[in-house]
Parts: sequence; structure tokens; C-alpha cells
Amino acid sequence: MQRLLLLMTTTTYRAQAFLDAARRLDIPVTVGSERSQALAAVNPVGHLTLDFSSPAEATRTIVEFAKAYSIDGVVAADDDGVILAAMASSALGLPHNPVEAVAAARNKYRMRQILSETGILCPRFWRFPIDDDPVAMARRVEYPCVIKPLSLSASRGVIRVDDPGQFVAAYHRLVAILQRPDVAISPRRSAQEILVERFIPGSEVALEGLLTHGQLRVLALFDKPDPLDGPFFEETIYVTPSRLSAAVQDQIASCTAEVTSALGLQHGPVHAELRVNEHGPWPLEIAPRSIGGLCSRTLRFGDELSLEELLLRHALGLETEILERERLAAGVMMIPIPKAGILRQVTGQENAKQVGGIEDIRITIPLGQEVVPLPEGSRYLGFIFARDSTPAGVELALREAHRRLTFVITPTEARPAQGEHVSPSTLGADRLPLLEH
Ligand code: ADP
Repeated sequence: MQRLLLLMTTTTYRAQAFLDAARRLDIPVTVGSERSQALAAVNPVGHLTLDFSSPAEATRTIVEFAKAYSIDGVVAADDDGVILAAMASSALGLPHNPVEAVAAARNKYRMRQILSETGILCPRFWRFPIDDDPVAMARRVEYPCVIKPLSLSASRGVIRVDDPGQFVAAYHRLVAILQRPDVAISPRRSAQEILVERFIPGSEVALEGLLTHGQLRVLALFDKPDPLDGPFFEETIYVTPSRLSAAVQDQIASCTAEVTSALGLQHGPVHAELRVNEHGPWPLEIAPRSIGGLCSRTLRFGDELSLEELLLRHALGLETEILERERLAAGVMMIPIPKAGILRQVTGQENAKQVGGIEDIRITIPLGQEVVPLPEGSRYLGFIFARDSTPAGVELALREAHRRLTFVITPTEARPAQGEHVSPSTLGADRLPLLEH
């Protein structure tokens, strides 16, 4: 029987969905993660401890393991495992993305460099060592622009600035983020530099795709109906199918295929983010992995197959082409963190679940934990899921359910009694303009 190696760090949101998929498909799985598991001794074939930060060494461990238990496919649950998945697949002779292509997709500067050498739309961009003089940097770039780290994700540290004064303030804020203990884990080169890009106006979409030997298949295209104009770029609502015209959707698909081929990506899932304006689609990023967080729950294929089931089948070389996304419209809201503090209470969930079309609400930050909004933070309060006959119906349901939720967040040092109620109608009201930070 075929066996899959599932690469996932212990912090991933994606573990459950992939493990459920393997169980439903009845595929034996070995989980490769950075920590040894309590049950590893009783089930040695079920678990492999791997150092994700040393992919060459981890690949040797995988190859050794595969001598005893053959591995027929390797899947990375999220960004952390994509380089290792490429290296290990190559060593095991499985279809895979070239390691350089994955590394390029993981580095925003490298990706811009590659795209700028093609005909693909690409904003002007500049890279600076982190210890350069920000005032000099601010003079060199053009406005409005976006200042960002090279390798973080979830819009963390991405800040729009409209003039040199804002640039310098945003620079200091980004440097502080890069120095946070959870970010500055290693003196990685990519954490020593920052990227600045001209701001691309327009609406934004996310494309979920699957590459088979270099051929891109679009699994779903999501609209992001909330404007993303900055200064921070909080994801909120994703709705599929897209309401853009068929012609524009075709352009987005072709552009994504051109990007994958320019980068050299070949095989497995891709998650792309693009902006669309009167000039056409502008790729923002393309990641060689599936959609993050719990968002994949919006996708169902064929006879109720999950995205993860489809991806595991694909990794084993099984038929997936016939599996189309369901006909219903579906969407998710990533619930933004309205202010910093301690999450004390969430009310209105039952009421919110009564909204027609709402399927589930998952608050993923435990009560009592600290919450940090963008650009410093990288998490959401949770997820709201909806299905309806139309994308507009999905969007309405998500907004109404969100309106019915109330989050009690107290200042980090304060006692709960001094709590302040924050409802979505006040979202953003406490967002200080950039220069005031
Ligand atoms: P991450 O990988 O952290 O998500 P991205 O580079 O994709 O970082 O940027 C996050 C978000 O910031 C994008 O989805 C987009 O909304 C916004 N953004 C990033 N770069 C630009 C740009 N050049 N112009 C306009 N918006 C941008």
C-alpha cells in the first residue's frame, strides 16, 4: 500500500485537515515534524522527527527511513515544509518542485527579480540592508509604496507609506518586528534586508491551483471584497467563485501560469495572490503550498472531497482531474484582531450561527491569550465559514455573522473588570495613523 510523508511543524493550523484527509482516504501516513511525539516509540512508522531548518540533513533522515518503509509521496502542510518537501522528493525520485524554484517563491525580492525579467506586470522595487540609513532609503523610493520583510507571511510587517516621513516611521516599525524573538530565530539573510515596492492599486484575488508536471489547473479563484489599501493589509473575506468577468479570470489564470513557469515551479499546490487593475493582473506572491489557516474548509470537490484529500491523491499520482469544485458559492472571513490586549470573552456566537448560510464559526485564539493586530501580529481571532447559492449571498452572510460577534479584549496588564467591549462596528477605529506610532 502507498505511504505518504506529511511534513508539518507542531504550530501549523493545517495539521488536522491533512490528517483527516489521510484517514478518509485510508492512506497510511508518516508525520514528519520537528518534535518527537509521545507515541513515536509504539508506532515508529507513524512519526519521524526532522529538523526543518536543516533540510539537507532532514532529507538524509527521510531517505534512511524510506529504505525501511517506502514513501510514495511527500506533502508539506504549509510554508515551513516546502523546501524540505522539494529536497526529499528529489532524493526519493518523486515528482517535485526544484528546490531553487521553491526558494525563489519564498523570497519576495528574488521573486520580483525573476518577474521583472519577464513580461509579467511587476512594480518598481528596491531592496535595502536593514541597517541602511532610512532617511536615505526614503529619498530613493517612489510613493506611494509598500515596505515589507523578505520572508514573513500573513501580511506581517507589510506597511503602505505615502511620503518619506511615513517611510521612516514604518521602517522603524518593521525593524522592530524583525527583531522580535519569534521572528529573529536565526540570523537568516532574508531577515537582514527589507523590500520596498510601488503600491499597486486595484482589487485583490487569491488563486488556488495545482501544478502537474508544470501544467497549472485552477482549483478556485477567490475575490477579496474588502478594499486592501493599507496602511496594513489585513485579510478578511474570501469568496469563491469570483465575480470578475470570465475574461479577467482567464487573464489571472494565464498570469499565474506564467509566474509558476518563470519561477520554475513544477508540481503540487500553489497559492497565488494577485492585484487586478486596468493594466491587468499583477502577481503579489505565489507560494508552493495550499491556502493557509482554516480557509481550505471553503473548498469541496467532486463528491464532498476536501482540498487536502485532493492534494494527497495528487501527491500519490492518483486521478484528480475529474474532481471539480462544487457549484455552491463559498467563503470565509478571517476575523481580524481589532486591538492589542488579552482576549477575555467572545459573545454572540450562537446568534451569529443563526445567520442564513453560515456553516461554522471557529475562534482559534484561546481566551486569556494575548492578541496582537497587524502589522506586528500574524494571527486572526478565528474564522467564519459560509455557503450560499451566490457569492453576494456568502459575503452578506459573513458580514452579518461578524457584526453579531463581540470580542472583549483588555489591555495586556489590566484586569478583566476594566475590559472594553469591541464590536466589529468599531473595527479600525483604534487604528492609529502610522506616524503616531
Ligand atoms: P505576505 O506574504 O506576508 O502575505 P505580501 O507581499 O503578499 O506578504 O503582502 C501582503 C499584502 O499586502 C498583499 O496581499 C497586498 O494586499 C498588500 N501588498 C503587498 N505588496 C503590495 C504592493 N506592491 N501594492 C499593493 N499592495 C501590496
